Amino acid sequence: MSTAQPLDVQPTPLALLLLGREADPRSERGVECPGDLPSPSDPDLVERARAAKARLGDRVFVLGHHYQRDEVIEFADVTGDSFKLARDAAARPEAEYIVFCGVHFMAESADILTSAAQQVVLPDLAAGCSMADMATAEQVAECWDVLTDAGVADATVPVAYMNSSADIKAFTGRHGGTICTSSNARRALEWAFEQGDDGDANGRKVLFLPDQHLGRNTAVRDLGMSLDDCVVYNPHKPGGGLTPQQLRDARMILWRGHCSVHGRFSLDSVRDVRERIPGVNVLVHPECRHEVVEAADEVGSTEYIIRALDAAPAGSKWAIGTELNLVRRLANRYADEGKEVVFLDRTVCFCSTMNRIDLPHLVWTLESLADGTVVNRIEVDEETERYARLALERMLALP
Ligand code: SF4
Repeated sequence: MSTAQPLDVQPTPLALLLLGREADPRSERGVECPGDLPSPSDPDLVERARAAKARLGDRVFVLGHHYQRDEVIEFADVTGDSFKLARDAAARPEAEYIVFCGVHFMAESADILTSAAQQVVLPDLAAGCSMADMATAEQVAECWDVLTDAGVADATVPVAYMNSSADIKAFTGRHGGTICTSSNARRALEWAFEQGDDGDANGRKVLFLPDQHLGRNTAVRDLGMSLDDCVVYNPHKPGGGLTPQQLRDARMILWRGHCSVHGRFSLDSVRDVRERIPGVNVLVHPECRHEVVEAADEVGSTEYIIRALDAAPAGSKWAIGTELNLVRRLANRYADEGKEVVFLDRTVCFCSTMNRIDLPHLVWTLESLADGTVVNRIEVDEETERYARLALERMLALP
């Protein structure tokens, strides 16, 4: 296990919100729900959601990300990770309204991949993603100028994680790069290092954004690079906090972003659970810090985690390092099969922005749509969509 990697998780500049309450004007779009939001204590919420969904019929398709609350997942027509959900929506052209129970960048991706006739709706516009917000279009354009000045831009291929804004996906498309998910990050990096005309594979670089941990974990664990091949570009420092020589020497230029949920797991979380539960298998998401991933028994995306637990034998014990709503659901699902599933850390670790989508917002959204009013539509402009789609298509064409 490597010990060379410093703890590079800094406190997020964005306040974490408790269970969808309060507001953070710096990170959120600050849009109030027009009209009346039902009270969370309304005893008829479930019935109202059912009735509104029935009124809409096939005209609505509700997508539920794995990290959503149970009360919302109950009304999802399909569940999955962000990319699977966007593709599921595109495969349902008869659905006029796509209600995306997830966060803002996911709804943007669904809008990019669905037809112009389909309208994508996010039940609470304040459901952003702190990781996606860590890379703005202005910051990334400035970074590219820094790479140009260092003489390395021509040799650099951007690879953007799905968890990024449409602007960042479009930047990636414009500069010959691709999108990746946590399932195909290895293939995306291998592809990126094969690009370019000069035939000098060793000179090529990847600008990986916005999640430094997924980029580092994939480069080191899957592509056999060393930690010294990676540098971290800090958008809050002049020149990214790097010298031109450091940029020239690097193979992986990692954007200094991270997930506020997965970044919280620590080596202590792993040690503690191994002590508490002898024989436990530790399975974590690749958005976790490098030392956590190195200390785990297995690493994989949310879809991988679900498949691993499905295939696990009765009597096995699992500590899972990903979002708490999903881990709780999996723990309940597999308890009957005699599989013990626990959350990797003792502290509560909901994704606060995912939790902003609750039953009152879903009821408000469905009832508004059933009454003929489209609320909280997420629409990516044509130019951004064109280049973001290009980057997404490169991902779809990955071998
Ligand atoms: S879990 Fe992390 S990456 Fe996913 S939406 Fe929440 S903050 Fe963003």
